[in-house]
Amino acid sequence: MLDCDVLVVGAGVLGLSSAYHIKRNDPKKRVLIIDRNGGPGQGNSAKSEGAFRNIFTSETNYLLADSTIDWFFHLQNNLGYDLKLAPIGYLWLYSEAHHSRLEYAFDTMRRRGVELRTFEKEDLKRMVPDLVTDFNGDEEAELLGLEDVDVGVLGVKCGSVDADALVRSYESEFLKLGGEIRYSTTATRLILKPEEELGIPGEPFVWQESRVAGAETSRGDILAGTSVVAAGVWSERLLDPIGFDAAMRPKKRQLFVFKDPRLKGLLDVKELNEYGALPLTILPRAGVYLKGELTEGSIWLGCADELGRSFGLEDDPQPEEDYYTDNIYHVLVKYFPCFKDVRPVNMWAGQYAINSFDGIPVVAPAPGMIYVGAASGSGIMKSDALGRIVAALHAGEEEAELYGGRLFRVADIGIADRNVERETFII
Ligand SMILES: Cc1cc2nc3c(=O)[nH]c(=O)nc-3n(C[C@H](O)[C@H](O)[C@H](O)COP(=O)(O)OP(=O)(O)OC[C@H]3O[C@@H](n4cnc5c(N)ncnc54)[C@H](O)[C@@H]3O)c2cc1C
Repeated sequence: MLDCDVLVVGAGVLGLSSAYHIKRNDPKKRVLIIDRNGGPGQGNSAKSEGAFRNIFTSETNYLLADSTIDWFFHLQNNLGYDLKLAPIGYLWLYSEAHHSRLEYAFDTMRRRGVELRTFEKEDLKRMVPDLVTDFNGDEEAELLGLEDVDVGVLGVKCGSVDADALVRSYESEFLKLGGEIRYSTTATRLILKPEEELGIPGEPFVWQESRVAGAETSRGDILAGTSVVAAGVWSERLLDPIGFDAAMRPKKRQLFVFKDPRLKGLLDVKELNEYGALPLTILPRAGVYLKGELTEGSIWLGCADELGRSFGLEDDPQPEEDYYTDNIYHVLVKYFPCFKDVRPVNMWAGQYAINSFDGIPVVAPAPGMIYVGAASGSGIMKSDALGRIVAALHAGEEEAELYGGRLFRVADIGIADRNVERETFII
């Protein structure tokens, strides 16, 4: 007797989306989600910046994100969920030289149908008067290695979604279909059993075919036909002991929030979007990015720190104010002097599940199990497509139909038969 057909470990955006699509494909299946937290999305999903974009160099990431963005609009416009969608755009700022090195990538995106708008320096000065574009004669800027801003590239089908509202929409649709969720329930270990049980102590032995048969949890064992491991950065705790590679490493990422009258110009930019909010803007140097957050009239800022920031799983990563004041600030205030002496009013930290090999998520099977993860800092914006791929894999289908009807070969995003191009537009 199985406790359920499908056990999903993790009620983050990827677990919820996977559970919802499995249940939607086959409503008779008993699908149970467990999460160690008391509600949905309280791992890294709720800590995200909630930004989305269809601007990726790899076709795979483009398909995952572009179809998921369409799904967001469907949820809001047709199913009535207020996801606070704000297509404010993504704005990449470049020097002339840097931009010309990337011309080929933007051409590829345009050929896919991605809407991009390119602005010259004079346009940017008019639209974002707070932005400094020239550092001629500024020795400090030279010391910091800052590049002038000559070109801006705006991704139009990009913007902001309320990540909490998104996970709750999946939770609600899943429950409507009769799905079950047990919060405050921790999976402590995946249960391995032989395909053919002999009842001998110590099974499974090396000569037996073994499979994942469910999980031991803080509230007792749960047996399942298929276990979906969607435990985000914590997946390695369940997968390492059974010898399955989660293909990602956790790394801390922090967000800083600013609310200050000196920044009001960033919520009143011209011509870039209909909201007047600064698009999610990526500075030419140091991986610093910031956006106008319309829900609270604030500015959210992050930084993609690569070399120098250690990998390692943390249960409760903490933000570091001196990371802002001693590091980010010096670059930020050069491009946006309006930040002079402005300090964050709020900050938090979470962890990215980084797949350094190709920067693309993984949906991979093992007997009795499906792993979904390694979202590399963009799991919100790819959540719907990944859930559909998990459901297709569970149903034994070779292709998943993404929202809008495009087909995706399931094995392409697996491990054994992986077929993706390396992503180079990772923030
Ligand atoms: C600071 C920051 C900013 C980000 N910004 C963006 C962004 O703008 N756009 C974007 O698309 N993505 C962004 N991301 C990435 C995004 O948040 C993740 O890719 C996404 O949330 C991953 O979803 P998940 O379901 O895999 O993980 P999670 O949301 O972390 O869910 C995993 C769940 O598993 C549960 N769990 C773990 N172990 C167990 C266990 N043993 N038993 C039971 N439950 C367990 C956890 O409680 C958690 O709820 C950001 C991430 C961070 C940290």
